[in-house]
Amino acid sequence: MNVHEYQAKALFREFGVAVPNGQLATTPEEAERAAKALGSPVVVVKAQVHAGGRGKAGGVKVVKSPAEAKQAASQILGMTLHTPQTPPEGKLVRKVYVEAGSNIVKEYYLAVLFDRASEKFAVVASTEGGMEIEVVAEKSPDKILTSQVDPNLGLREYQARDLGFRLGLDGEQIKKFVPFVMALYALYQAKDCSQVEINPLVLTAEGDFFALDGKLNFDDNAL
Ligand code: ADP
Ligand code: MG
Repeated sequence: MNVHEYQAKALFREFGVAVPNGQLATTPEEAERAAKALGSPVVVVKAQVHAGGRGKAGGVKVVKSPAEAKQAASQILGMTLHTPQTPPEGKLVRKVYVEAGSNIVKEYYLAVLFDRASEKFAVVASTEGGMEIEVVAEKSPDKILTSQVDPNLGLREYQARDLGFRLGLDGEQIKKFVPFVMALYALYQAKDCSQVEINPLVLTAEGDFFALDGKLNFDDNAL
């Protein structure tokens, strides 16, 4: 089972995985009201479809006013999105997520998944966020950092801290990164996920980490 970004982010929020404020909209007028309510100078209007690669396909628009948000929503709603992850006929967009824009300093990749080969969980991170992780894995496998998690012990804080160091984070950043990763792992466990992926995880100018994208897959057998 797959969920939309806005649903994944509602779960992130519930578990303390930091996400920007946002609201769902199904009409351009709703998108305008949502942007007004967010009160953010920069707002991002994002197509809600069960596929990644929306940004490059025109399904993510960064705007600077509620009026522009309305206009962006009117372009995105009703469009058929074609990305490398959609079926050949594309995906019709019926909803947009209107989100406060983040002041991005750096984009990372972060995921928790089940590693069948080792029969363990794995936390996977990379400094090469924002692009397809498969491409990173092929071109620069050394940029993919992994931490194996024993299912009986769960993720330990020292493992999250070590991952932060390997990502090149400084002390202050690691203080924020560790609880972020711990919260993500708690969500992964509590909701019987087979995979949780954040791409990009961003570091903002204010020094905070935010999940700007969220992909959750659930173990159907667990359901
Ligand atoms: P997809 O992976 O489907 O293309 P994302 O949610 O990852 O969609 O968005 C694509 C890009 O848009 C991100 O890598 C990021 O650079 C930018 N973006 C998305 N959400 C925000 C936001 N709230 N603030 C600023 N930039 C954003
Ligand atoms: Mg993404």
